[in-house]
Order: sequence, then structure tokens, then C-alpha cells
Amino acid sequence: MLKIGHYVDRPGKELGSAQITIPVPEDLETVPGIPQRPSEVDWYSKEYPLESHNVENRAYRQWVDTVTDIRGLRMEHEKLNRESVIAARASGDLEPTARPVEGMDVTLQIKNKARSLGFGEVGITEMNMRYVFAAKKDWVKAELPHAVCVIMEQDYEDTQSAPSGPAESAALDCYRREGAAAVELADFIRGLGYRAQIHSPNDASCAAIPMMVAAGLGQLGANGQLLSPYFGSRARIMMITTDAVVTHDEPIDYGIHAWCQICQVCVNRCPGRALMKDKVWWRGVEKNKLVAKRCRPVMGRYAACGICQKVCPIQKYGMKAVFEHYAATEEVLGKGTDDLEGYTIPGQGYFGPGQLPHFDAEFFDIPQGRLEEYVMERLKEKIKNGTDEEPEQLAQSFGRQMVRAVGRPADFMEELYFNPEADGALPSRSYFQDEPEFEEDL
Ligand code: SF4
Ligand code: SF4
Repeated sequence: MLKIGHYVDRPGKELGSAQITIPVPEDLETVPGIPQRPSEVDWYSKEYPLESHNVENRAYRQWVDTVTDIRGLRMEHEKLNRESVIAARASGDLEPTARPVEGMDVTLQIKNKARSLGFGEVGITEMNMRYVFAAKKDWVKAELPHAVCVIMEQDYEDTQSAPSGPAESAALDCYRREGAAAVELADFIRGLGYRAQIHSPNDASCAAIPMMVAAGLGQLGANGQLLSPYFGSRARIMMITTDAVVTHDEPIDYGIHAWCQICQVCVNRCPGRALMKDKVWWRGVEKNKLVAKRCRPVMGRYAACGICQKVCPIQKYGMKAVFEHYAATEEVLGKGTDDLEGYTIPGQGYFGPGQLPHFDAEFFDIPQGRLEEYVMERLKEKIKNGTDEEPEQLAQSFGRQMVRAVGRPADFMEELYFNPEADGALPSRSYFQDEPEFEEDL
């Protein structure tokens, strides 16, 4: 039996249910939250501000529509989700609907309301502007300094079938449920006399995991996802920022930072070999860095993949059961079993523990970067590889494609949800399908 270093108490999974106590073995103890060098985090945020995936990888976002096996599902989601994304975008400009009780701390009211709306975890911390995306800097209200961090549970059963339509459906359904609940929670905060800005997970304004960790809701896993006590990587996260009088929570050492180096299941099972075994210092934080260009080609083609989420024992069994098992046996619960590690990739077959699919180099060669960067890359490739086109012809088609690329909104979500020309209807999602020259280029 391993020596327990400390215990973590967490509120019950549902509002009113009994709290749980998670044992953290001594050999898993590191620091609360995540090891970081604040001056480096600060420097990177100024010199190389983070940018949204929807901006930085717009070419990929467009390409996905031409290959994904779940396009219909995603289009349905965007239709159903539109209202709450638009409500979130406008939320920061709404005024409070009551006068606040002066000096009264409303932490408990906000937390209880969040739990009653179905959020499984709620914590409060500082809104850290260092993690805001460059494209959203003007949108985020810096005068709302507190981040109410909330987690909603993605359906357990369907998640276990990842990668699949039902597993992705479970994720999208969870986004819609939490988007709608957040509108109610923000209304509630305004009713307490304060402002509230909703940061929709479908129109992301920032990297939210650092705030979740700071609010004590979990720690970062080797799969790049927040591992929360009850739901592990099945936690769908979002935030509401506010100027309400609240008390901040503290980051917690759940033992996850050291634990992932022992577990390594997601690292071993990732079909794209996108997850790194060792930790590195990245933008001032020590973590297992995901290699996105190895992940996206898999995600794009196979129902948004999610294998690293599905095979995580913390997701499947919960943190308490996993650490109790580890303390008693020094083993990783479920590791090496088909139940935890097995998965079926549509069209590729079943892969049990120790088995991985093979993808060749071409599989990973997909559109990357902003649209204009992609156009430039294609031109360079054509020139390098030799082309039958005359230089004038080449220049003309390049110019046309560049004008189209730069003429579109930089943010993919902008076009998807906020296109005034669409007049309430969803715009066509596929840039490549709208633009035959791009399609040819693919
Ligand atoms: S989503 Fe799939 S490809 Fe991407 S990191 Fe996870 S397991 Fe690997
Ligand atoms: S599968 Fe294991 S290593 Fe990967 S995130 Fe989950 S606990 Fe960490």
C-alpha cells in the first residue's frame, strides 16, 4: 500500500449529494495546478499572443468539411447551436437587471445556481488575460475580472464508442446544453446586480484550461485535456466572466501532473502518434505537448477521433477509483485491457492494446494555417515541383485565390455564425466547394 501524501475533498457530483475524498499518493505530489514560470507566461503572451484555432487553422477548418464522415451531424449542431452562440457574443454588453446588495459576496449563490442548471463542477478564479486569443482581445471585457469556470458532463456511454458519430454527438449535445445553461446563469448574475460575459466553447475567446486549473477543477492531462475528478477528460468546459463580488478558489494538486507519466495510456494509444511521452516547458508551463499536425488529419477524417479522451482511465473510472486502485496495487486501473484501450476506427477495423493503425506520410499532408498562408504554400509547391502553367497564368490564379482568401473573415466562426449576408440562415460551410479553384487545388 502506497503512502498517501494528502487527500482532496470535492463536493458531490450533483447538488446536495455527498462529497468525495480523493487520496493522492505521496509519489504523485508535485504542485497545485501546474508547474509554471509566471515571467515566461507573461513574456510569451506579449511577444507571441495565443490565437484561436478558428483563425490560425482556417484552411484546415475548411478542408475538414470536404473529408469528414460526420458533416451532417456538425451542420445540425451549428443550426441548433446558433442562438446560444449569438447570445454569448452579445452578453458582455448587457446591463445588470437589479441593484447589487453592497459588499455582499455572492459566490455561493452563483455556485448553487450553476449546479442547479446541471454543471457538474464550478470554481471561480481571476480572468487571466494572458490566455486570451489575439482576435478576441477587443471583445473580452477586461473590466470583468472574475472567471466563473464551469464543467458539464459529456454522456458516458456514447463517449466509450469513440471515434464514432454517437461519441461526437455526445460532445456536441453537451456543448449545446452548457451553452443554453450559461445564458441562464449569466441572466442570474445580472439579476444579482452584476455584469456577465459568456465565453462560448463554440466561439472560443481564450485557452480556458489554465483558468479551470487555477479554479481547482482539475489538472492538465498528457492528452492535452482537463482531467476533472468525476468526468476526467469527458469534462466540457466554459466560463462566464463577471464583476460580481466573489471569492476565488485555489488550484489543487490532484497528483495528475506526475500520474500521467506513469499511466501513458493515451500516449500509447493515439493513432496519429500526436501525444508526447515526455514533458517539455512550453510558453512558461511544464506539460506534455500535443503535436497538432499529427492529430488533425486523424480528427478530420474519423469522427473527430477522441481516442485520447476515451482511453483515459480518469474519464472511464473517475479519479477517486483510479488513485485508490493505484495506492493499493501500484497499477493503472484498466491498463492493457480491451475494455479501456480498445477502439474501432471506421473503415480501418478494431485495434486492441498494443495495436495501432498505420497511416502513410501523405495522410498527414493536409491544408494548414490561415487561408492566405495556405494559398502561398500551394503556389510555392507548384513552382518547386514544376507546373505546365505559364508564369502569367500562375500569377493570375494566385492573385484571384489570394483576394478570395483575404476577403473572407479571418475567423471561421465569424462566417459560420455571424454572416450578415446569410440573413439568419447558416452560410455554406465549404469554402473549397464554393471556390472551384480551391477545390482543384486540393
Ligand atoms: S484526437 Fe486522436 S489523433 Fe488526436 S491526439 Fe487524440 S487520440 Fe491522437
Ligand atoms: S490516459 Fe493516462 S496519461 Fe493520458 S491523460 Fe489520461 S491519465 Fe493522463
